Amino acid sequence: MADDDTSTALPQTCVRCGQVALLRIVGRCGDCIGTLGLAGGEDYAAWRAEVKAEFGAK
Ligand SMILES: [Zn+2]
Repeated sequence: MADDDTSTALPQTCVRCGQVALLRIVGRCGDCIGTLGLAGGEDYAAWRAEVKAEFGAK
């Protein structure tokens, strides 16, 4: 498998758990987003704030 095509989405490391994940939103992987959503704590609020900053408030 060629890995010199940088135009496609590359797996990157989650800033929270350090796992490599294809799905990430503002640095957190899908697993962490799910965990944050369930916990609903400060981390989730911080992530939501970053999402708003990145994509704009709706
Ligand atoms: Zn993660």
